[in-house]
Amino acid sequence: MEQRSEIRAMIDEMPVIDTHEHIRPLSEVREGPWDFIELCKASYVASDLETTRKEGFTWPAADLSPAERWAQFEPWARRTENTAYYRSLILGCKKLHGLEENEINADNCAVLAERMEQSRQRDDLFDYALGEVGNIRASLQDPHWDAFNYDTGAEVLKPVLRINAFVICPFEGQRDHNGTSPYDYAEKLDFEVTSFDSYLELIGRAMEHHKAAGAVAVKSSLAYDRDLLFEQVEKNDARRVFEGNRDNLTPEQERALHDYLMYAAVDIATDLGLPVQIHTGIRAGSGDLRGVSPVLLTELLLAKPKARFDLFHGGYPYCCELAVMAKGMHNVWLDLCWLPIISPSVARRQMQEWLDTVPASKLLWGGDCSRVEAALGALEIAKDILSRVLIGQVKEFGYMNQNQAVRIARRVLHDNAAELFFGE
Ligand SMILES: [Zn+2]
Repeated sequence: MEQRSEIRAMIDEMPVIDTHEHIRPLSEVREGPWDFIELCKASYVASDLETTRKEGFTWPAADLSPAERWAQFEPWARRTENTAYYRSLILGCKKLHGLEENEINADNCAVLAERMEQSRQRDDLFDYALGEVGNIRASLQDPHWDAFNYDTGAEVLKPVLRINAFVICPFEGQRDHNGTSPYDYAEKLDFEVTSFDSYLELIGRAMEHHKAAGAVAVKSSLAYDRDLLFEQVEKNDARRVFEGNRDNLTPEQERALHDYLMYAAVDIATDLGLPVQIHTGIRAGSGDLRGVSPVLLTELLLAKPKARFDLFHGGYPYCCELAVMAKGMHNVWLDLCWLPIISPSVARRQMQEWLDTVPASKLLWGGDCSRVEAALGALEIAKDILSRVLIGQVKEFGYMNQNQAVRIARRVLHDNAAELFFGE
């Protein structure tokens, strides 16, 4: 067997731990029509289409036949079929639905739709698709549409708790970009917030409750709400803002309170043994890169040596910066989740750089998808990148032998996450 395919074959045999997904509930997957077009609509392809749109684009009507729907959608698909977002969906359909071609066309759209329809009727769809087909042992599930729900509906999906709202919505009536308020959790726990200390206690109780229900990490996607520069603030200053007159707060005072709460949330998670996942870099569906560099987190990372930070998306496009951070800080893990489907070539280039610079025990992978087809496609691309980079290390550069390469692949896809999130 050719050496590359030998390494790839061994990678395919490995169990995987996937650090990040947003798999939408089965009830939602079963709503409306279900075909490749709906898969695009439920994935990042939709945001790419958004940026190509001319006047007149609409998603095809639900009551048309698969062929009619495809005929309407095809010109739009052709605008974006080159992207890894789109390609990952094709790969996912090959993996899960036995699609044979490398494209969707008038000849195969109806057969694929039929297979997709059959698969969404399975009550065990997530465990089957991710667990059996994908050989994924665990996917960390971030349900941002229902942030405090730890019932993931599948064995393979392990909950994480979003901390955004605890940090930036400390006052009743405030909600984060997902519509979440900490007071919803207070109600769930029948807990009353009467002071600043009791608000901090609420954060602790929520994390404890979630952990008892199976949560293995907390997650911040605060980069969608604000910049990532969190500065150290005295507790008494934060308390004064929280307990003072809320009507006359300046933006600076509110920001100081949020900053304090971020440090507090990290402390509480760390005391409970929960790693802290943080979104850094590119925001979904946005070209605005202001405030998302992982470098902005430096003060927080240095101030919390006991915390374990899982920094997302390879920091893209600040990938080299994140490499330096993971190399030089013992509490930082470098997670390439999402990056392989944003750009396989960047992920490949970066993986090569990361293997030169960052200890292999700190590299992680996740899919960051809302449908199982997309997650499986993301995994296919990640495996392809890993095997290509590793064979380069073995064959082209002679930096390592095949056993070392396979050991590193297992670390990235499984062992590091097993250690970080499951204490194995
Ligand atoms: Zn995500």
